[in-house]
Amino acid sequence: MEGRVHQVDDSHRVMTPQLDMPERLLLGPGPSNMHPRVRQALGMNEVGHLDPRFIGLMNESQELLRYVWQTDNRFTIPVSGTGSAAMEAALANCVEPGDVVLVGVNGYFGERLCDMASRYGANVRRLEKPWGETFDPEEIAIGLETHRPALLGLIHAETSTGALQPMTGIGKLCREFDCLLLLDTVTSLGGVPVFLDRWHVDISYSATQKCLSCPPGLAPLTLGDRALAKLNNRKLKVANWYLDMSLVGKYWGQERTYHHTAPINMNYALREALRLIAEEGLWDRWEKHTANAEMLWEGLADLGIGCHVEKEFRLPSLTTALVPDGVDSKGVCAFLLQNYNIEIAAGLGQLAGKVWRIGLMGFNSRAENVLLLLAALKKALETCG
Ligand code: PLP
Repeated sequence: MEGRVHQVDDSHRVMTPQLDMPERLLLGPGPSNMHPRVRQALGMNEVGHLDPRFIGLMNESQELLRYVWQTDNRFTIPVSGTGSAAMEAALANCVEPGDVVLVGVNGYFGERLCDMASRYGANVRRLEKPWGETFDPEEIAIGLETHRPALLGLIHAETSTGALQPMTGIGKLCREFDCLLLLDTVTSLGGVPVFLDRWHVDISYSATQKCLSCPPGLAPLTLGDRALAKLNNRKLKVANWYLDMSLVGKYWGQERTYHHTAPINMNYALREALRLIAEEGLWDRWEKHTANAEMLWEGLADLGIGCHVEKEFRLPSLTTALVPDGVDSKGVCAFLLQNYNIEIAAGLGQLAGKVWRIGLMGFNSRAENVLLLLAALKKALETCG
């Protein structure tokens, strides 16, 4: 270098302390805490995104994702980004301008699907239900008959309401109406029974930071044959270069063509998280989530706190607990964080001020966490009630 020609502006050169984050127990709607083995995997040596060892890891993660989703879909990959990236990828690739897209809107994330689909030129139609309720097959059948959509979008586990959408019969109806079925499994994958192929789901996506016990940053996406046929027969290019799965698929498929640099260490984390699920076995994992959720519901009832969703449709990974009259819901959240390092969340949208959202997801779905939260909540109610 010739010399220091220009003077550097130091006005933004702040001297910050070394990072020191508190140890929180994340019992809100996500992120949840990562498993210690996932944290260990995150810190492993970096390799290149085309390194043979990394390619081996990619294949393993794809196979394990097929296991947790219960699908044989060849196109099953982790999209780089959070859940919304895979949500957007699902729509960007499988919707063409002018397509009628029918969305089940019974919470915040159904609204997000409508918004995203409209940005890709869809003719969006809504099937609405109050927040906390679910759709039955007859309602879906009427919706399909009335709107004749190219795609039906449903949220399996509505994180804003705590409702679990039953899936029996819906996929077959969609096939009868020649309609693609998209299912958001962000808050169900790895915590609640999901049988994509048995349910005839064509498109699904999820996120790492909920029941998979990873940090946020990757978003699994799977496309079945009917969805791939739609993608391959598009008249127009996918209107989003980064999320164009016909390009990204060449990196995750046989060609291994560079598209963008995969987040290497996050992929280590995901592989470890999936390995943990395979070791445990899906049924054991699902039953554990149900048992701990039931323990929470009983403990809440003992404190005089009800649940927003009817038991039959209640989501084990995320409970919406009704805020008792006269209690400051946000005050309780702040009290739990400040005094016990426990995060739960207040209600969203229509349920703001009415519920708390309590997550028992993946590694955090443990009896000791339920007992701790209930004891802390009792103290909080005594102070904030
Ligand atoms: N879908 C559902 C059901 C969710 O709960 C979330 C996030 O909480 C998303 C989509 C979006 O995921 P992300 O926040 O990771 O982008």
